[in-house]
Amino acid sequence: MTNDRERSDRMTASVSEPTPMPDLSEKQLEEVHNIFQVFLKKRNLRQTPERFVVLDAIYAMDDHVDADELYIRLKQKGNRVSRATVYNTLDLLLECDLVVRHQFGKNQAKYERAYSYWQHDHLICLDCNAVMEFCDPRIQSIQEMVAEIYQFEIKSHALNLYGHCRRENCPNREKAHVGAEKAAVKS
Ligand SMILES: [Zn+2]
Ligand SMILES: [Zn+2]
Repeated sequence: MTNDRERSDRMTASVSEPTPMPDLSEKQLEEVHNIFQVFLKKRNLRQTPERFVVLDAIYAMDDHVDADELYIRLKQKGNRVSRATVYNTLDLLLECDLVVRHQFGKNQAKYERAYSYWQHDHLICLDCNAVMEFCDPRIQSIQEMVAEIYQFEIKSHALNLYGHCRRENCPNREKAHVGAEKAAVKS
């Protein structure tokens, strides 16, 4: 019966909204650079400053961007990095696990930093495309249990929840919800 009790304890674990991730320390950023340098060397690729500009840009952000958004942000900041460099650097960063890519619905793939970043899942607003992160330890438990049952080494998972964000300034909020609420009051 101990197992059952353990299980019910786990079930009451609360979903916590992740507090904003503190920026990486200088030492951690150095380590990130190191990993990329070693990777480029191993692949016989040049360690161009542009590649590190892309790396630093993605580690300076705390949101999820697609490749074009990242290119535009860099350009606005006066960086002369070509679109092609942004795209192929992101591919390299994916390969060495410094960045993760998410496919949210039919939108362009979004990227975010991965080094020393918490494990989390996403809520995506269908109206404004806002992406929110949440963290629930129960998902980790499920993953471990499934891996055990199926004798499967899990490398990653994707859990994306789609819906309406209810932010004041979310476009389509009026249309989508006020009508539904009125209908609910009537019945
Ligand atoms: Zn929204
Ligand atoms: Zn995320």
